[in-house]
Amino acid sequence: MARYTGPVCRLCRRAGMKLFLKGERCFGPKCAVERRNTPPGTAAQRRRKQSDFGLQLREKQKLRAIYGVLEAQFRNAYEEAVRRPSDTGDNLLRILESRLDNVVYRLGFADSRKQARQLVRHGHILLNGRRTDIPSAQVKPNDVVEVHPKSKENEYFKIAREGLAKKSVPRWLELDIANLRGRVLAAPAREDIDTNINEQLVIEYYSR
Ligand code: SF4
Repeated sequence: MARYTGPVCRLCRRAGMKLFLKGERCFGPKCAVERRNTPPGTAAQRRRKQSDFGLQLREKQKLRAIYGVLEAQFRNAYEEAVRRPSDTGDNLLRILESRLDNVVYRLGFADSRKQARQLVRHGHILLNGRRTDIPSAQVKPNDVVEVHPKSKENEYFKIAREGLAKKSVPRWLELDIANLRGRVLAAPAREDIDTNINEQLVIEYYSR
């Protein structure tokens, strides 16, 4: 399935909540959810009662949109979550949260996951000292994620560095602002993931 290329604010309106897909704009008055928090579509479509399946599907689509993952990749993440011990929902969130593009976003090097994915794809990011252009690469404790030395001199990263002091980094990551370098301290726990999602509905969707 192809990547969604339509207006991303529409995804938030459909989800009925902010999915924070656009960086800065999501925190300002121009956010579409702030201005018009109604689902897209006609009034009749909006009045329709949602079935259990509809709720599960919506939750799955929300989670996919937040992390910007294609359906096939998302299903792979679910299957990997099932294979791992302990709770499948927690595992799924941990797998998504441990993606390299998400870590770049969480460290504050990008304003959105989409932008973070581009930074990774364009070779600006090193994982443990090696250029890695795979956004879905999984990080693990003690991994080091940093900006490529050549890229540190780019105007983009010079401006990004100035804004980093104002951003907060989750407790499972450590950030060295001067060197644009982050370290993974631990695997993310469920309470570290500030995503307003009912992951059990996602699991129910796939286990039908
Ligand atoms: Fe969603 Fe951000 Fe658009 Fe608001 S501005 S609707 S949070 S993508």
